[in-house]
Amino acid sequence: MKNRYDAVVIGAGPAGLIAAGCMGKSGLSVCLLEKNEKSGKKLRITGKGRCNITNSRPKNEFIQAYGKNGKFLYSAFSVFFRDELLDFFKNTLNIEVTRERGGRIFPRSQDAHEIADKLTSWAENQCVEIVYEHRCISVNPGEDGYLSLQITHENKPIDLLARSVLIATGGISYPGTGSTGDGYSLAKNLGHSIIPLKPALVPLITHEGDKYGLKGISIKNSLVTVLTDGKKSNRLFGEFLFTHFGVSGPVILTLSKDIVNALNTGLQVLLHVDFKPALDENTLDKRLIREFSEHSNKCLKNILKFIIPEALGTVCLAETGVSGDIPCHSITSSDRKKIGYWLKNFEIPITGYRPIEEAIVTSGGINLKEIEPATMQSKINPRVYFAGEILDLDGDTGGYNLQAAFSTGWCAAKGIIALLTQK
Ligand SMILES: Cc1cc2nc3c(=O)[nH]c(=O)nc-3n(C[C@H](O)[C@H](O)[C@H](O)COP(=O)(O)OP(=O)(O)OC[C@H]3O[C@@H](n4cnc5c(N)ncnc54)[C@H](O)[C@@H]3O)c2cc1C
Repeated sequence: MKNRYDAVVIGAGPAGLIAAGCMGKSGLSVCLLEKNEKSGKKLRITGKGRCNITNSRPKNEFIQAYGKNGKFLYSAFSVFFRDELLDFFKNTLNIEVTRERGGRIFPRSQDAHEIADKLTSWAENQCVEIVYEHRCISVNPGEDGYLSLQITHENKPIDLLARSVLIATGGISYPGTGSTGDGYSLAKNLGHSIIPLKPALVPLITHEGDKYGLKGISIKNSLVTVLTDGKKSNRLFGEFLFTHFGVSGPVILTLSKDIVNALNTGLQVLLHVDFKPALDENTLDKRLIREFSEHSNKCLKNILKFIIPEALGTVCLAETGVSGDIPCHSITSSDRKKIGYWLKNFEIPITGYRPIEEAIVTSGGINLKEIEPATMQSKINPRVYFAGEILDLDGDTGGYNLQAAFSTGWCAAKGIIALLTQK
């Protein structure tokens, strides 16, 4: 390790890796500091280990997936968006991709390690010096236009000088992966303001816990309507998961940001779940009639499983008071209607959310007003740049957060190259 570099990148996550490689390729001397013993610990667990890299939704819709701060990304996406990312994966990293439901794009290998390993090797091949188990503890303006960095390695201090620094230390969720929020203190020390940190994409708690014994049961196509103080505030279609403390799954995670805000302002939150949204009440009733007549001599409890997961069927019978032991031909129309109503009108009161450490992403972070959107350059110290989840940007599930990390990382690299090579 040298004692001065053109650029030091703090954090070998997706944002830091792509940025470091890009700068190394341009001929700058680059050091990538990573406090863990390996790169991309969080990247390696994304998409349940399959890594949902990005999404095929059109750019305008894509931007909406980040809420009101999404417009900050227009400049970065005009330079490096999905097509550029996929082109980079294919032609530079030799990674093929596949598209799935909801426009989600994964590596064909379905292996997040492939992305992390190939990105890391590529960065190394661009002469980036990656130093593991080195934690940056401060960045300060130094002399002769350099920034001075304090690093710790095996409890020993190391001083480093850099002509520019990219802070790509991630958020504060899943701290076991290395994102423990160090970057926020580095930024504060440099004069930046931090928008308060909150969990986004976080599982929700109900005081009833696993009242129904349904933990682990997931329903692929449900329609979840959020009622805040009795008023419909949001509605989303997707996969819903029961857990031991409440609910999770993509549809819940996506709705969670607004629910967290509602709970924090003292509003009552109730989820209304329709387990059969593709069928209106009449069509569902006809479907039940058909199933029951096709299996007229079988017990109801053995037939409901053709319509919903078996465990959910058991709860449906218990809640509606309809006996599961009667043969289907003896079910009264009133009981059948009770079942149909229950399937379309399940309600869960939401009383809290899991801690930020369990959130998929962090909401809040470096105030975007203090960052140049085309280059990720700090407006406070022009030698400092930010990229990835540390910024006050968070997207829905579906590949949006990784795309933001890659795009902002790429643009930060281009910004630093321009800064350091301008005559
Ligand atoms: C379980 C889970 C699943 C996810 N799945 C998806 C998905 O499928 N698709 C998607 O788009 N998003 C997904 N995300 C979100 C996505 O992983 C993050 O938004 C993304 O990794 C952020 O990238 P980053 O480079 O900004 O930060 P990180 O990936 O958090 O990387 C930051 C790096 O900085 C290092 N670091 C921190 N402080 C220091 C320091 N002081 N000195 C040196 N190094 C430091 C950390 O060790 C870490 O390696 C998922 C997140 C989780 C938790």
